[in-house]
Amino acid sequence: MPTNRPPALVAEVSDAVGAPHVLHAPEDLLAYEYDATIDRAAPDVVVFPNTAEEVSAVVAIAARHGLPVVPRGSGTGLAGGALAVRGGVLVVLTRMNRILEIDARNRTAVVEPGVINLQLQEAAGRHGLIYAPDPSSQRVCTLGGNVANNSGGPHTLAHGSTVSHVLGVEVVLPDGRITWLGGRLLDTPGPDLRGLFVGSEGTLGIATKICVRLIPKPEAVRTMLAIFESVEAASEAVSAIIRRGVIPVALEMLDREIIRIVEPRIQAGYPLDAGAVLLIEVEGVAEGVAVEGEAVVDACRRHGAREVRVATEQAERERLWEARKAGIGAIGAASPAFYLLDGVVPRTKLPAVMRDVLALSERYGFRCANIFHAGDGNLHPNIMFDPDVPGATDRVLELGGEIMRVCVKAGGSITGEHGVGYEKRSYMEWIFGPADLAAMDRVRVAFGGADRFNPCKVLPTGHGCATGHASDIQRALATPGVYV
Ligand SMILES: Cc1cc2nc3c(=O)[nH]c(=O)nc-3n(C[C@H](O)[C@H](O)[C@H](O)COP(=O)(O)OP(=O)(O)OC[C@H]3O[C@@H](n4cnc5c(N)ncnc54)[C@H](O)[C@@H]3O)c2cc1C
Repeated sequence: MPTNRPPALVAEVSDAVGAPHVLHAPEDLLAYEYDATIDRAAPDVVVFPNTAEEVSAVVAIAARHGLPVVPRGSGTGLAGGALAVRGGVLVVLTRMNRILEIDARNRTAVVEPGVINLQLQEAAGRHGLIYAPDPSSQRVCTLGGNVANNSGGPHTLAHGSTVSHVLGVEVVLPDGRITWLGGRLLDTPGPDLRGLFVGSEGTLGIATKICVRLIPKPEAVRTMLAIFESVEAASEAVSAIIRRGVIPVALEMLDREIIRIVEPRIQAGYPLDAGAVLLIEVEGVAEGVAVEGEAVVDACRRHGAREVRVATEQAERERLWEARKAGIGAIGAASPAFYLLDGVVPRTKLPAVMRDVLALSERYGFRCANIFHAGDGNLHPNIMFDPDVPGATDRVLELGGEIMRVCVKAGGSITGEHGVGYEKRSYMEWIFGPADLAAMDRVRVAFGGADRFNPCKVLPTGHGCATGHASDIQRALATPGVYV
């Protein structure tokens, strides 16, 4: 594999992080040329730092050589965000996997970016607390990746996505400086650079510590499975539930195709003859949960549910969720490859948009399985295909583009939670005008990254290296952040 790697690079980064924590042989780089989507790109070198200072040293070395820097967590991203599309230094944060503190009284935790989402959930659970954002990939994905992508999950409908739970982030800036954005408190004076950083997909710096908000475990939880004859009927029920004034903590949809893939593997009791099911959860104080649960059952029945099951035991509840969380992985066993799309539309547009998604997939001749956060209007069509069939990958990508257009036309957007990454950057022009894109460019310039920090991500070609300045942000960054 040809590489433009400067001769001194490997020795310099090895000095910074230790030679055992550097990969540069072509066969080792192979494992780091992909994330969970379709594209591939190899870095010149992969480094595994252990501290913020080591990250800073590596970033400074890359800057000296004029090389791109690409942060990476577990590589479960679904938009090509962690791909080293222009080569350079891939900074993998998985060694920085310590939970530094759980402050149960103030309901906060401080973690390193390589901590796995589920590990934080389990640690918080031992104190009677919850970290709310729970991506379906939570057994594998890192908190750093969650922050970079502002990840959501089944339980973010009521609680909000990652940005609502991050209080502060320690960041290594593109010039190697280490600073805090935000802190331990709910608000800090000045522009909300913490909010700007969350969801910036590794283009503004590398998160090296994260302070998050924890919430108490609810007194009561009710989990329900509503069974419908069609996706359309289930989609109508989604809006009906919210119209009742109930905001479930989770409101997930699985269609027939995905039920037939996942149920034989997990055996959670999902009916194989259903057109679609809704997995719905309400939580809170016991009396409120009873009332809301009844309202949900009634709304589903009135909108065509042939049956609504209420999980009576914890084991049953866990099985229902296991099937939901294992759903996407199960598609991997059912098809040689699949392309997982992520779009978002206003909830009320779900019935029409789902009709279009299924019709388009049929027209292109691909099987499409849907498993998604219906309450958020966040669809995830999974298009199954065989990459060995000539032209299949191109046609799948074309279909993906058409589905994204349907979302945009319905007043929605090209991503609900997986980010823009490399894959969707050209679609940004469908929803933002030149002035918006130029402003986003200037934010990058103000942080000092321009197009060297995770290049070719988020912004369309032609952006990412604009000149100009955003003086407010530069001034704020000039004052070292204080970890309060
Ligand atoms: C089966 C499956 C189910 C999924 N379910 C969900 C879901 O329910 N909800 C959801 O939102 N997503 C979901 N995802 C997508 C993915 O898991 C999330 O985007 C996750 O947050 C990525 O974390 P990661 O550690 O794998 O990050 P990576 O894929 O390694 O990186 C993702 C992005 O974050 C950047 N990055 C990583 N670490 C840092 C850091 N420390 N500092 C700065 N930037 C960084 C990278 O440059 C890249 O742009 C799913 C993926 C799969 C495969």
